[in-house]
Amino acid sequence: MTPAAAGSRTLFPVILAGPSGAGKTTIRDRLLAEAGSPGFHFSVSMTTRAPRAGERDGVDYRFVSRSRFEALVDSGAMLEYATVHGARYGTPRDNLDRARAAGAHLLLDIDVQGARQVWEAVAEVLSIFIVPPTAERIARQLRARGSESPEQLRRRLANARSELEAAAEFDRLVVNDRIEDAVAEVSALVEKGLVRDRRLGAAERRYVKRIIGELDAV
Ligand code: 5GP
Repeated sequence: MTPAAAGSRTLFPVILAGPSGAGKTTIRDRLLAEAGSPGFHFSVSMTTRAPRAGERDGVDYRFVSRSRFEALVDSGAMLEYATVHGARYGTPRDNLDRARAAGAHLLLDIDVQGARQVWEAVAEVLSIFIVPPTAERIARQLRARGSESPEQLRRRLANARSELEAAAEFDRLVVNDRIEDAVAEVSALVEKGLVRDRRLGAAERRYVKRIIGELDAV
């Protein structure tokens, strides 16, 4: 099959979702550093939140004002958008074209609200939910980030819980215990291709339920 004939079936977008503190960003960065073929093209989101130390405009996010963000939403330029932890986040529609032009999978690191909108808009997507092995890992990573006030930390923990509750809507679950294993697992899932038997199995749902229980006790 020529690359053109392979088309959207082989270059499907890949969504990585999961609670803050699950290690999504590290997995994403490792995947982007891999020399795979077709490889990944990171979906740079727009956000109205302030940049964190070390974040670069146009690379990590496109940092925009609230009014600019809303104007883009109104003009239909966003594939999906959501409010997360009080700030606006969204995926510009043309990120899909950029990935296609690069001959790569668009790799989206978005929240559950955004994932649901992408499922509505794009027929063929692989959606992977990342969880840490314990809830304590979520709490520890959020604290270690150190950029959050106690109020922001509380909000992120509550948000982590509601993200976990949506895990069963995803195609596949990857437990991020050892980062190398998690990256290999995500790569293997992408290699296998699109999933027809969507949604997680009973054992995976029980796993997520246990972490939610632990998180309530943190
Ligand atoms: P952070 O502020 O820690 O970078 O991201 C907070 C949350 O927003 C993460 O769960 C991240 O996946 C999500 N997020 C980042 N970009 C987007 C986006 O474009 N759309 C949506 N819906 N969520 C996003």
